[in-house]
Amino acid sequence: MNRKILLKSRPNGMPDANNFEITEATAPDPKDGELRIKALYISVDPYMRGRMSDAKSYAPPFEVGKPIQGGIVARVLESRADNFKAGDVVLGRIDWQEIQTVPASAVTKIEEGKAPLSYHLGILGMPGLTAYFGLLKIGNPKPVETVVVSGAAGAVGTVVCQIAKIKGCRVVGIAGSDEKLAYLKNELGVDDVINYRTTKDIKKAIEETCPNGVDIYYDNVGGEISDAVISHLNKYARVVICGQISLYNATDMPTGPRLQPLLLKRSVLMQGFIVSDYADHVTEASQQLNQWVSEGKLKYEETIVEGFENLPETFLGLFEGKNTGKYLVKIAE
Ligand code: NAP
Repeated sequence: MNRKILLKSRPNGMPDANNFEITEATAPDPKDGELRIKALYISVDPYMRGRMSDAKSYAPPFEVGKPIQGGIVARVLESRADNFKAGDVVLGRIDWQEIQTVPASAVTKIEEGKAPLSYHLGILGMPGLTAYFGLLKIGNPKPVETVVVSGAAGAVGTVVCQIAKIKGCRVVGIAGSDEKLAYLKNELGVDDVINYRTTKDIKKAIEETCPNGVDIYYDNVGGEISDAVISHLNKYARVVICGQISLYNATDMPTGPRLQPLLLKRSVLMQGFIVSDYADHVTEASQQLNQWVSEGKLKYEETIVEGFENLPETFLGLFEGKNTGKYLVKIAE
């Protein structure tokens, strides 16, 4: 059976399984310039929540009744396109469908053998590039500076923490379980950690773990965690706004403190970004990330769920913190 997953309805607040529908799919014979491909790994990513809404954003909304789309690593079953042959492995942001026919221009070929194929959806793919660009292009870390990372145990956060360590910084990671904190400290060498779910006074926890103040805040979550970190910024600090996952399901946007006076008095740079802003620098970043991975300087964790039918539930698990490292679904060998 060949299956696809559609957006059945737009969520209001936290999405649930009823917003998705699994149906049978077809994959017609490829025409000239097309490939028939079979999904191996499918990525679930927080930004996809934004595409379930019809609000205008940097990525167009998914259409109701049409397939969800996301990052997929797939194997070519049949090719009628130059430069591709059966057996090749490709990467694309395409339909959540087990076997599908796509224009060859929708995917890029990836090299097999150097790293596990799933890494192209994580550390060697979009999340790894996001970590690299946000920290290095905006955060501009210098040795001994203090870097605080929220969402520290996730796909982007784990890479940010490690690159900050490579750059000689002191790193404090914020995450939502003691298991994640242990992983950050014991496996990734993060200097100090905060469990935001069990810490009563997050502001005090930031003061205690950052006695010299905060020079860089890499923000993956937004909300009250970020309010607390920002209140403890040093002069010339940089705030990298990468994600705001704590607000993605908010129906009423909460109002936080007015930040401008603090940013002014401490000469702080606060900048949002989308990974595609740095499209011209992908080659440089990919080479460096590949090198760090092959040298063992960047460790990498994945939480892999098996089975196409588990995609919706896995996606929802992002908002409950069910993953350490990259969260993805394995569809086939
Ligand atoms: P991830 O961190 O692997 O997964 C999401 C994590 O967020 C969960 O594991 C959970 O961990 C945490 N979380 C969920 N709800 C939360 C809440 N209410 N408060 C605090 N933490 C919460 O996801 P990712 O792919 O690496 O993405 C991380 C962030 O970067 C997201 O905000 C995403 O939208 C953003 N992003 C931005 C770009 C860009 O171009 N700017 C690109 C990729 C990703 P805990 O157990 O710690 O709660």
